[in-house]
Amino acid sequence: MQIGFIGLGNMGGPMSANLAEAGHAVTGFDTADVEIEGVTRAASAAEAAAGRDVVITMLPNGAILRAVAEDVIPAMHIGSVFLDCSTVDVESARSVADAAEKAGLLPLDAPVSGGIGGAQGGTLTFMVGGSDAAFAKAKPLFDIMGQKAVHCGPSGNGQAAKICNNMILGATMIVTCEAFALADKLGLDRQAMFDVVSTSSGYSWSMNAYCPAPGIGPQSPADNGYKPGFAADLMLKDLRLSQQAAETADADTPMGQAAMELYARFVEQEDGAGRDFSAMLPRFEKRGRG
Ligand code: NAD
Repeated sequence: MQIGFIGLGNMGGPMSANLAEAGHAVTGFDTADVEIEGVTRAASAAEAAAGRDVVITMLPNGAILRAVAEDVIPAMHIGSVFLDCSTVDVESARSVADAAEKAGLLPLDAPVSGGIGGAQGGTLTFMVGGSDAAFAKAKPLFDIMGQKAVHCGPSGNGQAAKICNNMILGATMIVTCEAFALADKLGLDRQAMFDVVSTSSGYSWSMNAYCPAPGIGPQSPADNGYKPGFAADLMLKDLRLSQQAAETADADTPMGQAAMELYARFVEQEDGAGRDFSAMLPRFEKRGRG
């Protein structure tokens, strides 16, 4: 396929490289000066998009996506796929999809989980909103860039799935960390705590697959000085998106709200910026109730 790829950062860079390596003709654009192996550079987003079968965007936020979409949509031909893989607010995703549809394009919102490692290894999970026809056209590309693509319904539902998932993740990571810190203070050995919880009703991905305690459970960022991994800053972004969506939809989300406020404090007032989101454990360790 002829693919345009806009946003060649930590995620978009390796995703576009994997598509090129699989034999697709990829033309890329980024406002930063980046060179990706196998990807031809374009001078603008519109140039990267013109005449392609699929245009993929992997951008920082909804405002940038909206601006890029304004340039790109008029350059694309009818029936081509506009595939946004960024994590953005549901409203931006739906508004861009609406504009793309009006122009005769097939829009998809397909945020990912799996992080930079998943982007490099081609093992991402895609949560996809859009029509059946658009999903079917993009499926071979999901198979190259990832290991799983779940079609979640119409436009915006991919973003909805992503922020609901990450709201659960943020809240469970916090409570897993505070439980470890409480267990320490009660004299409970961390290994015993892991052995019990990971096989009892407190188990979760945060405990079992990404244990925040160093030296316990499978390898995780805790074993690497809390180097991300999944940065606390990105968790904060996703929690803010979940609360923005909850506000718009009039949904009561007190745990998500509390998780957002705690990550905001951690990243913006404490030492959480640039650390893995599981570094909440050393944060709680140092604290008492005061
Ligand atoms: P990044 O900052 O490394 O990459 C974004 C790229 O977009 C940058 O290279 C930037 O120069 C480029 N860009 C900005 N404005 C542009 C414009 N107008 N036109 C063209 N290019 C432009 O970010 P990332 O880590 O690659 O994340 C991209 C998206 O993926 C975000 O929405 C993020 O939330 C999501 N995401 C990231 C991770 C992760 O672990 N990094 C995991 C899941 C989802």
